[in-house]
Amino acid sequence: MVKRERSAELFRRAQELIPGGVNSPVRAFRAVGGEPFFVDRAEGARVWDVDGNEYVDYVLSWGAILLGHAHPAVVRAVQEAATRGTSYGIPTGAEVELAELVTTLVPSVEMVRFVSSGTEATMSALRLARGYTGRDLVLKFAGCYHGHGDSFLVQAGSGVATLGLPDSPGVPAALAALTLTVPYNDAEAVAAAFQAHGERIAAVIVEPVVGNAGYIPPVEGFHEALRRLTRQYGALLIFDEVMTGFRVAPGGAQERFGIEPDLTTLGKVVGGGLPVAAYGGRRDIMERVAPTGPIYQAGTLSGNPLAMAAGVAQLLYLRESRPHPDLERRANRLLDGLLGAARELGVPAWGGAMGGMWGFHFAEGPVRNFDDARAADVELFRRFFWGCLRRGVNLAPSAYEANFLSIAHGDAEIDFTIDVMRAALEEAAR
Ligand SMILES: *Cc1c(COP(=O)(O)O)cnc(C)c1O
Repeated sequence: MVKRERSAELFRRAQELIPGGVNSPVRAFRAVGGEPFFVDRAEGARVWDVDGNEYVDYVLSWGAILLGHAHPAVVRAVQEAATRGTSYGIPTGAEVELAELVTTLVPSVEMVRFVSSGTEATMSALRLARGYTGRDLVLKFAGCYHGHGDSFLVQAGSGVATLGLPDSPGVPAALAALTLTVPYNDAEAVAAAFQAHGERIAAVIVEPVVGNAGYIPPVEGFHEALRRLTRQYGALLIFDEVMTGFRVAPGGAQERFGIEPDLTTLGKVVGGGLPVAAYGGRRDIMERVAPTGPIYQAGTLSGNPLAMAAGVAQLLYLRESRPHPDLERRANRLLDGLLGAARELGVPAWGGAMGGMWGFHFAEGPVRNFDDARAADVELFRRFFWGCLRRGVNLAPSAYEANFLSIAHGDAEIDFTIDVMRAALEEAAR
């Protein structure tokens, strides 16, 4: 039996002091039942908990860690920056360096503004889209997560192009009514929404590859349709690449699919595990942001020197090493191992991988949207998750989250994980 006494004690104290004992809800393991473990340290592909248990980690700070935990290049950059001061509120050269790297790597981004979280990036991008177009509505897709901004915590009403209802108490109904929600991968529903409300839609925001309803790739032609419809109606296309940016390809999903969105949001990988996110895009739009334009957005810690140093070190490394084909090969091997075991056991399973992002659903598939994802066997996932964790593999603790891979996940870790997943699935399917 795996011992987690210290984690249990910390969780008990945490629950007294922090809502649910965590600073972000999914970390509380409610989706899989049971209690979370507390981390002591991490290195490469592994994390160790406070009781000394070791795990091969596929959460990787929800995708932020691409080079593996505590990569020497990133750690050195942060240490060096820290000795020169942790924050000034005055411009630094590192901000210019990171902006140069981002704009050269991400095809559609001509100018960029750094912020501190993905939520801040999407909120700011939406304000910019509304200010630029002079329109109020935003169209999003069911199951896509864009951070916890009021405009994005909205669920679909019934039917196509129904105005939204709040998904959380505290989101004003008047604001939620400005968010339209349609199913992912459904270009016809998008066209219908534009037909009904086209002159009022400021932007379409989309996860170019969904990771927040489990892994769901776009179907052929979906992004092309979004690009065509937004142009036709004078709305902006926002690619929320907070998860996919630098992860599915050096230039993100837009490079991979050859689509040029008007605005792009970045987060997670861009900061190498420190709190950085960004929004950027076409120069004529970005110049509308204060102080060159009237659309306000600011941040005391924006462009923080430690975070910029980590981002620069990591993106330089990424630009030189070009790890994505290798990441994808390993992710596919992992997935083939899992899906092969599922086939032998007669368990329905479906999944996919892109660059260093991968995921699966216990469903026949193909999983094309949130409803398909919700039809998967969540109970089986729970048992499978705990079987993996007990054997030393840390997967995302929810059936509705993607998993990740870093360059530190070598063939030995992949082989180990395939064996663990096979044993866990055998046990879970019994
Ligand atoms: C994680 C995520 C966000 C929110 O980023 P935070 O840094 O958690 O605020 C937004 N959009 C997508 C696609 C994400 O995966």
